Amino acid sequence: MKIEYVKVKRALSKSSLPDLNYAFNPYIGCMHGCVYCYGRCFTKDKEASDNWGEVIKIKENILQLLKREVKRKKIGVVGISTITDPYQPIEEKEMITRRALEILSSAKFYISIQTKSDLVLRDLDLIKGDRFDVGVTITTLNDKTARLIEPRASPPSKRAEIIEELSEKGVKRWIFYGPIIPTINDDEETINEIAGLAKETNTEVIIDMLRLRPKIILSIKRSLGKRAEEILELSKNELYMERILRTVKSELNKRKVRTSFAFPQLSLKAFL
Ligand code: SF4
Repeated sequence: MKIEYVKVKRALSKSSLPDLNYAFNPYIGCMHGCVYCYGRCFTKDKEASDNWGEVIKIKENILQLLKREVKRKKIGVVGISTITDPYQPIEEKEMITRRALEILSSAKFYISIQTKSDLVLRDLDLIKGDRFDVGVTITTLNDKTARLIEPRASPPSKRAEIIEELSEKGVKRWIFYGPIIPTINDDEETINEIAGLAKETNTEVIIDMLRLRPKIILSIKRSLGKRAEEILELSKNELYMERILRTVKSELNKRKVRTSFAFPQLSLKAFL
């Protein structure tokens, strides 16, 4: 893995994601190296984008910039992070995310964290009050499946523990069940386990399906070998995906779990 320090020009960028005003990405690239990661499509740094999971750039001046920017930007919701994981392993030593939480919360910004790492638990002393929410991506509760598609992220059992702890501490939280990948994590067992965890911890579930951008197709072909063809075929099959989404929605509704679709504008009929 190649790791280097870089200087950047800004800390907060405008976000077009639903419910976010700004994005804060402390690192370029992500050590977790998920097979389906859209970060590789939106990361401008070609080296990190082309070698997703293998090249990490640490934004060494981002905290100085953030301190200045929070004084002149309008207060809003900051997504941490949108194209990297703010709690990937390098954060344990660098602590950029932790320092950013301190700066943003003193400036009274709202903070929406999304991660796949139990390192987020380190910062629970800061994550409190109604200015925070934490999303944990749980695509499966099966360790073997997770290793296949999210090779270096915390195992699902650890991610379930994050949700349990956030629930105990009363932190606003959500499970991100996405992307739903045909034949990988769209089976009955996965749907029931995720719905069960959401029910037990009274946690909202946000759903998303796989989106086939060229770099994602390439990554799936490279990493999933023979299984790729069927996955790609079924992902394009609207009837198949609609049936899966209906099942997911119905299992969550049955348990009275709050559910929404990550990108309502792109949703299939089942969610309209
Ligand atoms: S954890 Fe998130 S940002 Fe990192 S590789 Fe996986 S999907 Fe991409």
